[in-house]
Amino acid sequence: MTCQLCGDPDSRLYPAGQRCDRHSPAAIAGRTVPTPDPDLTLLGLRQAAGLPPWPGVNLSSSTLNDDRAIETGKRRSTPAQFREARARQDARRAADKTARTSH
Ligand SMILES: [Zn+2]
Repeated sequence: MTCQLCGDPDSRLYPAGQRCDRHSPAAIAGRTVPTPDPDLTLLGLRQAAGLPPWPGVNLSSSTLNDDRAIETGKRRSTPAQFREARARQDARRAADKTARTSH
């Protein structure tokens, strides 16, 4: 997600919306952006409990679905993203074909 005010891709979700450090509520109030204790972030707590980093997200299947959506035009993309998604899909199709014909 990108900052809703400037489009910076390095942003976090606040109650006010998706914001970068420059547009965070603390920065707008004239204070420094607090740095969280890494052991107390969601990621740190999940790692301490021996859980995977993010629940319910299978990165390989979401990448596959994104590539399909980009290739079919259901998801907006830049020409470069389109070419990358198409190349990944072509590689998957070639690997599928190889797997099917080798039986
Ligand atoms: Zn911003």
